[in-house]
Parts: sequence; C-alpha cells; structure tokens
Amino acid sequence: MTPASPARESVQAPEPAGLTETEAAGRLVASGPNEVATGRHVRLHTRVLGQLRDPLILVLLGAVALTLAIGDHPDAVVIGLVVVVNTTVGVAQEVRADNAVAALSAMSAPHARVRRGGTVRAVRAVEVVPGDVLVLGEGDIVAADAELAEASALLLDESTLTGESVPVDKDAGAVLAAGTVVVRGRGVATVTATGASSALGRIAALLDDRHERTPLQRRLAGLGRTLAAVTLALCLLVLGLGLLRGVPPGTMAVTAISLAVAAVPESLPAVVTLALALGARRMAARHALVRRLPAVETLGSVSVLATDKTGTLTQGRMRVDSVWTPRGSTELTGVGYEPVGEARVGGRAAGESELAPVRELLTATALCNDATLRPPDPTSPDGRWTALGDPMEAALLAAAAKTGCPGQGELGTGCPRIGEVPFDSLRKRMTTLHRTAGGQILVCLKGAPEAVLVPGVIDAGPDTIARARDEAARYAARGRRVLAVASGRRDDVPDPLTAAESGLTLLGLVALSDPPKPHAGRTLADCRAAGITPVLVTGDHPATARAIAERVGLLGEGHQAEADVVTGADVAAGRVADLTSVRIFARTDPQQKLDIVEAWRAAGAVTAMTGDGVNDGPALRRADIGVAMGARGTEVARQAADLVLTDDDLSTVVAAVEEGRRVYDNVRRFLVYGMAGGAAEILVMLAGPVLGLPLPLRAGQILWINLLTHGLTGVAMGAEPTAPGTMRRPPRPPDQHILGDGAWQRLLLLSAVVTVTSLGAGLTAQGLGLAWQSVLFLALLAAQLGVVLGLRDRLFTWQNLLLPLAVLASAVLAAAALYVPFLRTVLDTSALGWTGLALAAACVPVSLLAARLLRRAFQG
Ligand code: ATP
Repeated sequence: MTPASPARESVQAPEPAGLTETEAAGRLVASGPNEVATGRHVRLHTRVLGQLRDPLILVLLGAVALTLAIGDHPDAVVIGLVVVVNTTVGVAQEVRADNAVAALSAMSAPHARVRRGGTVRAVRAVEVVPGDVLVLGEGDIVAADAELAEASALLLDESTLTGESVPVDKDAGAVLAAGTVVVRGRGVATVTATGASSALGRIAALLDDRHERTPLQRRLAGLGRTLAAVTLALCLLVLGLGLLRGVPPGTMAVTAISLAVAAVPESLPAVVTLALALGARRMAARHALVRRLPAVETLGSVSVLATDKTGTLTQGRMRVDSVWTPRGSTELTGVGYEPVGEARVGGRAAGESELAPVRELLTATALCNDATLRPPDPTSPDGRWTALGDPMEAALLAAAAKTGCPGQGELGTGCPRIGEVPFDSLRKRMTTLHRTAGGQILVCLKGAPEAVLVPGVIDAGPDTIARARDEAARYAARGRRVLAVASGRRDDVPDPLTAAESGLTLLGLVALSDPPKPHAGRTLADCRAAGITPVLVTGDHPATARAIAERVGLLGEGHQAEADVVTGADVAAGRVADLTSVRIFARTDPQQKLDIVEAWRAAGAVTAMTGDGVNDGPALRRADIGVAMGARGTEVARQAADLVLTDDDLSTVVAAVEEGRRVYDNVRRFLVYGMAGGAAEILVMLAGPVLGLPLPLRAGQILWINLLTHGLTGVAMGAEPTAPGTMRRPPRPPDQHILGDGAWQRLLLLSAVVTVTSLGAGLTAQGLGLAWQSVLFLALLAAQLGVVLGLRDRLFTWQNLLLPLAVLASAVLAAAALYVPFLRTVLDTSALGWTGLALAAACVPVSLLAARLLRRAFQG
C-alpha cells in the first residue's frame, strides 16, 4: 500500500450538494442496506446435526440402541437424556458464541463520511445509499461503487478487487469500486450502487474470516484426539476386565461406552469458543474491540508493545506555544482549540510590528491546512471548541485566530486553493497553491524541519538555515513537535506542482506542545510489571521522541540515561545490528515499522503494535496484535487491526492483555478439572473391582456425573475472575504447551486424590454395610466439586457467583439422583442415610484442600 508514484495534483471543482437526511432515509428503505448477505446464517437443524455427528455422540446413540436391544430401559433413558442435554448445551453455546462474534463485527463495522443536507457526517457504511455524496480522504475505504466528481491527488489501492498492489491515480469522472482504499489525496464521489449490486458483493467473501479456528482451538483438537485414543484404550481394558469377571457383556459394553464419553472432555471446544467470545465481550466493555477471535488468546502472551506517540502516549490535543521567525520568538497563551489567547514577547504583549511576521507565518499555515475548527455546540455541557481533521492542523488554525489572522472563510474566498501536493509520511511536508486577489499564485509549504530547511526548498543563506535548524533542535529537545513554514509567489501554476517546492522564503518555525496523557507513565509501568517491553516508534523528530519518552518513563526508573534513539534512516541503512535492543525509534516510515515488527517476531516475541495511518496496514497485519485507534485512526488501519481501541487509550491494550490472560487461565483450569475428573472415573472403574467393588458405577451414574461436572460447573469456570497478580507475572511463552507449567502434574495428582478419596468412601460404606455404590457415586461427584472450588484463585469472592451457584445446583441434582424416585429407578441408586451422606461429603474438603495445596506447589 506504499504510494508508488510521485505526488500528483489536480484542480478543484464545485462540490456536489448531497442528499437530505429524509431523502437518504427513503432511499435506504427502497434500495436496502449497503451490505451483502454473507450466507453464514446457520439453520437450527444444521447445528443439531453438526452436534450429532460428533463421534462420541454417535457412540452414545449406538449405546442407546444396544441398551434398548438388551432391555436395559433405565440406562437407555439416561444415555438418551445425555444426548439431548449435550446437544442442547452444544447448540446453545455455539449460538451464543456466534452472537457474540456477530455483535463484535457490528461494532467494528466500517464507517463512511457522506455529505448530507450540506454537512459532512460519519455514517455506518451499511447506511450509505445510491446518490449519497461520499467524502474521501487518506485511509478511507470506499463504501460503495461511486463516480468521482472531484479529485485532489487521489491515489487508490484497488488490490482487494484486482489483486494489483500498485496504487492507481484517479481523476474526476473515474469509477470507484466499493472496498478499495484511498492511499493519498482527497475526493468527492457520488454513489452509484450499493449492497449486493456493488463491487462489495464480489469481495464479501474475502472480508469474512469469522470461522477461523484459533491456535488454542487447533492445539486442543489435537489434544482431544490423543485423549480420545487413550481413553478408548483404557475403556476397552475396563470392558475386558469386566467380562473376565463375568459381568454380562451388554452391561459391560454400555458401561465402557459411558465411561469413554464421560472421561473425554467433549464439551472442551464449546467451552473454549465460549470463553473466547465472552472474553471478547468483556474486552469490548473495557473499550477494546476484538476483530478476530484468535486475538483474544494471543493478547494474553503479548511480550512487546510498540506504540506510536501522538494521541497514544500524548493527549493528541496540540497547541501552538511558540512561533519563531527570523525576527525573534513569540509565545502564545490560551488552552485547547479556543481561538482566545495572547501573543507575548519577552514576557509582555507583542507589539504590532512584532506580530506582523507571526501573522504572515500563521496565515500560511491556515491556508496550507485541511482541518476545521468548530465553535462550542450550544447543547454540549463543556462549551469547548472542537476540531475536525488533524489535531496539529487544528492547533495551527487556533493560533492563527489568536493572533488576528483572517478567518478560514475569508481566506477561502480571498485566496482560493487551486492545487495541492498533500502531506505523506515519506515526504513529511505539504504544499498548497492559492490564487491571490492580484491574480498571482501563492505557494504555502509546511513540514518537518529536515524536509523544509534544505537549500533546494528555501532560498536563504546557510546562516539563516543553520539558525532555524538550531532553534528547531532546541524546541524538539523540550518535547515540542516542530514545523517549518515557507511561502513564495509565482506568476503561473508550475507543472508538475512539486516544482513549486523550491526557492521559497522561510517564514519561520512553529513549536507545538502535546503533553503526555496523565496516566501514560502508569500504563507503561503496568506493561513492564507484566513483562511486556514498551517500544516507542514515532514519525516525530528524535529529540521530541526522547523528551516524551523520558517524561513518560518509557525505560523505567533509573534508565533514562540509556535513552538512545535510532532513526528510520539508521534502520533503512542497516546501521542497527539488533533492532530488538532499541527502545526509541524516531522519524520512522511504515516500512521501517514493518522491519521492527519482523525483528521482534524473529526473536520469538509476541508483538502488539499501534498504528493509525493508511500505510500502517502491513505492519498492523504483520504484528501478532495490530492495534488501531477507533477515533483517530483511518478506516484502513481499523480494518487491518486485530484490536480497535474505542477510547484511543494505550491502557486499554493493557486491560485487553489482562482479559486475554484470564481467558487462557480459565481454559487451562477447565482442562485440569475436566481431565482430572475423567481420569479419576477411569481409575475408579479399573481399581474398584481389584479392591472388591465389582462394578463400581453404572453407566447412567457415570453419565450423570459427567453432566453435572463438565456441563454445569465446567462452563461456569469460563467466567472466573482474573487472578490477583496476573499482570505482575511475565507473559506465557507462546510455544508453551497448554498443559505445561505444572498443569500436567496437578492434573495427575488431583485425579489420584479424587480416586483415592471416593474409593475410600465406597470401601468404608461397604464395610459398614451401606449402599456402597450410591456412596461411591456421590463421593466421586463431591470430590470433583471440591476440586472446582479448590482450583479457584480466590476461594471466597463475590465475583463469578455463577460458579458457587453451579456447584450448589450440581449438589442438588446429585441429591436428586438419590432421593427423587424416578431418577433413583433410572440411575439405579438408593436413598442414603446420614452416615452415607457424611462419607461422601467428607470428600469435598479433602479434594478442595488437595487442589489448593497443589496450586501452591505447581504454580500456573
Ligand atoms: P507520531 O508517532 O507522533 O504519531 P507520526 O508517525 O504520526 O508520529 P507523521 O504523521 O509521519 O508522524 O509525521 C512526521 C512529521 O511530519 C511530523 O513530525 C511533522 O513534522 C510533519 N507533519 C506531520 N503532519 C503534517 C502535515 N499535515 N503537514 C505538514 N507536515 C506534517
């Protein structure tokens, strides 16, 4: 998406008026929304069939047939019930996850700027109708097919449509296709076709990647297959041993099948999808819109955060505080974009003669400007002036107004713009051409000092240029953004327009302050505490970058002296051996951002990178987590990003990382719990007969335990709160096994504890002459519920009440299995007396305590 051709120019025409709101509303009804039905709507029966095709469910259906054939009706009912409940829960979770993802895509859907009723406003792209006047600027995505009415150096990237990556120039009259991207320049176009009848219809398929599986899901699917194989082998062993002991083959077959179903955490994929979707929803509530589900999980392991400066670390509300002209420097007072303030020289109000050169300079910046200032909205409570467009250009307009320069309206009529060479981050300067009342051509240029203070551009002696450079360096070292401004007069419009950028008179420098956000330092400290390395990558001057980095403590306490700054030119020339050793990059262009991301990724880091410009797309896509600003960023950056910050605040990335870590922790917790329970069930079935408990559990009982553990409590685990200290530990290594870092050990030891305690309860019951099988059934459930509670990070907390409620519900349903006559018949249990109940209940504290001790022994 890098501009390939030199800057182009064009001449402006009168603007089309646009539809009224009423007309637009009428057309929306007539032509329908500007979107393409994705055909992704899945019917209910398709979802149900999808669930029933699960191999384990097929096995269960086989078991129903088998039990019916051998006349074991109670087990047939229970297994049938399990199939129904499993399918219902599966479908419900799928629908919930899909809805959550759909809601997210709606939130991050593209917007478009249209002129309606004479004013330009942002609308959702789906609301664009034929006849609408689209206002296009750098970084916009063309929302519908349109005919270009007016173009100013408009360069379009049509690669989404044609695959051709070289951007194309477009002049008035050209046809623009929906989905293409404005790389540079501006334009106004009239919409000709929307929705399915537009080019969007052709590219809709390219935009939809919602059904991609996350790395975690893929890894879990692999784990699931291994588990299924191991479990099946063990179940066959149980079957064989049972048959050897003379248990009827039908009963034994059904038992082995039930055991297989119970031991494999088949609800795992559903739990994971739901955990990710819920995580994405929680992130949205914290102002972080996730555009791809896998990002939720990747966020948890982010280890490097490459951030830009303006509006991310700083407030992005710029203010001109000094103007330097070759005659001397002038300070400007005032706050925000209010055109109220005073020009002061050496501590006193500036005199008319001192103001004249300042006015000339600021008038040039007001002409060479695409922003607009808006007076306070009478209905808004804060009564502040606001800006439309680039905050820096808005600040220049406010400064011009403070010093009594002519207003934008007056300048527009007195000195209309007849051409421009727009700003881009490679050239770092912008030029406009205006026709003066006397018929001459006025050239106004502003840009980064090193792009302007060069002999070819400025017609001045080396002394003047050197003085201006020194002043610029002084302002930059104080953290100011500096612009150099020049102007000149011509008799004719030069061809090409870039030829106007030479032989100009230096008007002076403007120094803009953009103070750091109050909590930027805190956010960076939080990053470091969480093991995330912050790196500043800015297009600004090295001295400005260093000053801001020092002010926000980018390198942490006591490291300020190491604030070495590397420039984009150093990177491009290969002067930096190891890009990962640098913390501050200045004057970088988008290609160098990409190099920095690549270097970190090659070093094994998981990178998050912020970006907002039109050319940031590739770096945002390449970074593990591309972060775009919702308010400030361009549409292209937003659509290329994995994460969109609706509040443009860096601390939101840290919050999202915290949510990502929480999701991962909860999935791991569920795995430990579910697999420990499954393993315990198999061990009980294997060891029971050896210890004198012939058929420890009936098929129905095993499935009942499965429903209550994996179903109710398992899902509730997905909503567990963030563990204290989550953001004070380093990120997990990206290649770490999902059961690494102590999880295997905990799982095996917990399954041993659950097996021993429940078998202990069963054997004691047998010794006391009680209904031992019912005690064992209840004990196995109780021990697993103890594990659920013990695995919590905070045992007693008001957060996630769902979990204690799920445990309670499971306990009630476990009791129901013993005391509701119908269930008792179906599950073949007996009502227990106090002793039996106490024996089973005793398993809760034992497994709970074991889980807590193991948490300490094997962190993770
Ligand atoms: P940051 O990290 O601060 O967000 P950036 O990557 O947005 O920086 P650019 O927008 O590429 O930086 O700007 C680079 C330099 O170009 C600025 O420091 C400034 O001197 C100059 N510049 C920026 N915008 C304009 C403009 N509209 N007209 C002229 N010059 C500009």
